[in-house]
Amino acid sequence: MCIMAERTRQNEYFNSFKEFEDCLRAYELKNCVIFKRTSTKPVDKYNARLQPGQTKLDECLFLKYGTYNCVHGGPVRPSQSKGLRPNQRTLQLHCPAQISLVGEACPKQRLKISSFKHLHQNHPVGNSNFAKHYCKNKKLDKTTKELVTTMFKCRGKNADIVHQIQETTGKAVNSKDISNMKQQYRMEQRLGKTPEEDLILELKKMLKDDPGSQYVIGHVETETDVDDTENNEPKLVDFIFFQTKAMRDNLEQFPEILGLDTTYDVNKHNMHLSVVEAIDNHKNGRIVGYIFLRRETSNILESALKVFVAKNPDVVNTVKTVIVDKDYKEISGVRKVLPNVHVHLCHTHVRRIFSRRVKGEENASKLTKILNDMCLSDTAEVRPLGYTITATKYFFDCSVWLS
Ligand SMILES: [Zn+2]
Repeated sequence: MCIMAERTRQNEYFNSFKEFEDCLRAYELKNCVIFKRTSTKPVDKYNARLQPGQTKLDECLFLKYGTYNCVHGGPVRPSQSKGLRPNQRTLQLHCPAQISLVGEACPKQRLKISSFKHLHQNHPVGNSNFAKHYCKNKKLDKTTKELVTTMFKCRGKNADIVHQIQETTGKAVNSKDISNMKQQYRMEQRLGKTPEEDLILELKKMLKDDPGSQYVIGHVETETDVDDTENNEPKLVDFIFFQTKAMRDNLEQFPEILGLDTTYDVNKHNMHLSVVEAIDNHKNGRIVGYIFLRRETSNILESALKVFVAKNPDVVNTVKTVIVDKDYKEISGVRKVLPNVHVHLCHTHVRRIFSRRVKGEENASKLTKILNDMCLSDTAEVRPLGYTITATKYFFDCSVWLS
């Protein structure tokens, strides 16, 4: 390795491009620097323009001319921003280190380092702690890549994968690198399909593999129909409802109380995920359906709930109570679609929002205690008028909760 590193010097010859690259890599690792190819004239282009009688260059030389600059070469580019943060997108620091290569046909086919400016400037040299953060030094070998893929398949956490790679290879990968690799892996798994096409296939696969499951892709402006994507005009997807057979069984078994909870911005289209849950006999939530919403507007939410009810027609007669968080659109949507159910606010949400609102107030702890007592009571007697008024002052939706 050391001999190879020393061969990267002026007037040194190489029998092939590969031999040069191996020596350069050894030099880079030894000196903790990185070079990148900045200009080239490939052998095939050079050969194509030769006059008859001139000797062609061997293809294994790859380059007629080539220049390699230190990765920190090139002018310092002024940041386009207000200059409040250092330039983060480029490594260019005006380092003059440079290697020039030339391919020769006579007296024998070989590559020559015609000039080598080996002095670096404006960045650390010989510092392995610094150098390990260069992209080139973070690249993983084939075996490690396979290991990472296996860990992706096992749903390994990014932090664990980072730890594993650092332990086995000493490379300074971070979770962002792993996240990029995961995206790449997913893209390969989709075989070039867009995530949207892949989603449709996945939903169709669900129907096939899980008889009794169902899904609806909803478009609010038009009629909602299944498998609409094969029609000619692309339409905006407003919601996607899906339900496996197990979810339907949950609903059939525990139909009295439903809960709705929404997580926001779950995918790159910033769709929200509404989870429909039933409460079982141990007070645990059991998922009975998932709804992805493009936006949480009243009409989209209402249409999605309508589809949920249409696909589970028993719901109209069996559901007695629906628990929601404090979202008005959700409440009015549920009231419209299921006019006969009790709409309850989720106690956890009420408490959380209440304590946020009274934070810093003089009587915050007293007020919180009153609210907690009110949550646990189911009779009007333990809510003295004064308390109720105090509570509504801070929690705008108490009237709904009290009803
Ligand atoms: Zn340099």
